[in-house]
Amino acid sequence: MTSPTTQSETLFAHAQALMPGGVSSPVRAFKSVGGVPRFIDRGEGAYLVDADGNRMIDYVMSFGPLLLGHAPEAVTRAIADQAARGTSFGAPSPLESDLAEHIRSVYPSMERLRFVNSGTEGAMSAVRAARAFTRRDKVVKFDGHYHGHADLLLAKAGSGVATLGLPDSPGVPAAVTADTLVVPFNDPAALRAVFEAEGERIAAVLVEPIAGNMGMVRPAEGFLAFLREITEAHGALLVFDEVMVGFRVHPGGAQALFGVTPDVTILGKVIGGGLPVGAYGGRADVMEMMAPSGPVYQAGTLSGNPLAMAAGLALFREANATGAWRLAADAARDTAAAIQSAADAAGVPVQTTSEGAMFGFFLNANPVMDYASAATSDREAFARLHGLLLDRGVYLPPSPFEACFTSSAHTPDVVAEAAEAFRSAFAAL
Ligand SMILES: *Cc1c(COP(=O)(O)O)cnc(C)c1O
Repeated sequence: MTSPTTQSETLFAHAQALMPGGVSSPVRAFKSVGGVPRFIDRGEGAYLVDADGNRMIDYVMSFGPLLLGHAPEAVTRAIADQAARGTSFGAPSPLESDLAEHIRSVYPSMERLRFVNSGTEGAMSAVRAARAFTRRDKVVKFDGHYHGHADLLLAKAGSGVATLGLPDSPGVPAAVTADTLVVPFNDPAALRAVFEAEGERIAAVLVEPIAGNMGMVRPAEGFLAFLREITEAHGALLVFDEVMVGFRVHPGGAQALFGVTPDVTILGKVIGGGLPVGAYGGRADVMEMMAPSGPVYQAGTLSGNPLAMAAGLALFREANATGAWRLAADAARDTAAAIQSAADAAGVPVQTTSEGAMFGFFLNANPVMDYASAATSDREAFARLHGLLLDRGVYLPPSPFEACFTSSAHTPDVVAEAAEAFRSAFAAL
């Protein structure tokens, strides 16, 4: 029951001659699962249709943005209407305030915010704001947490206690990550040690409040509250990177879910309704540091882009009107349960997690709570499972260390269809 991939193979060969690895973003190349990446012809609700005509239930949802599924009518109409009125002005438009107001109504900690074009840009700018505000240089991040590909955040460092950040990528000078301190997630003692040693030099702690870029890993009970306390005690800012979890784990994001208020929040993905966007925002006194209110420079030719603003607004209006978050959350919970029961029936050890409209699973006999434990998962079995599922019409992220995403288009019927594929794939594993 292998699905045809002739068209994808031809398209991939063509793309590889033109672009590094044939892709515009590395994970898309299927390196960790093998096989040919599916070239996508179109998306329809919960489904992707590839160039060979294979129809697959999509649990990637563009890695998070598509809370309403592919091509929801309300969003495509808003984009078309706005396109007819102009795609970029290089001047303010009321759409920016409309979207900012909506975001602030559910993220009250974002007293002021600014739109950028990607999560990467949001994280980079949030760090600049935090450094300027605190007049300190050092930034703490967690091993395995991803905050986009800005130089200073491309460090996740080695094992053990605090490691001085060493760059993960050639092309990132060690000097640029020298002020990036990396500690294991969910390890209060390691963080305490870093603050004891460097406390007055730390501008900010950046955290994915639920990690989603090393697979999905929850914060330990009380860990986020501990981050709030220790940053406050040392005059550092707490920055929640909610680019992935925002509007997914809870309609008000991780900060509403856990009741912990950061100083600065980074958003992206869902807020652009499937168009390129990012935002950062937080305490007014921090954000007023940014030009033209303050001296810290940050700008963007296409920032606050009217198409992206219109798409984000349309997504939120439609989501509120249709109870989309609840539907997507039910689908995530039921899919995670289906994976658990398929794996149990096949005797395959698995750890599943879901929260709101995202879920994750590790092929691992032990609980996962940080990068080191995530890394002990069975990558080779995941690669085989991924291929077995593609042949059964289910498209999972092509890496064992990515979270999975649902949408309101993942109806109970779609999830039941996926559950059957999981049963059959785990049995064949
Ligand atoms: C996706 C992601 C980013 C980067 O966003 P881009 O739009 O891809 O630049 C940053 N942080 C987190 C937590 C993400 O999941």
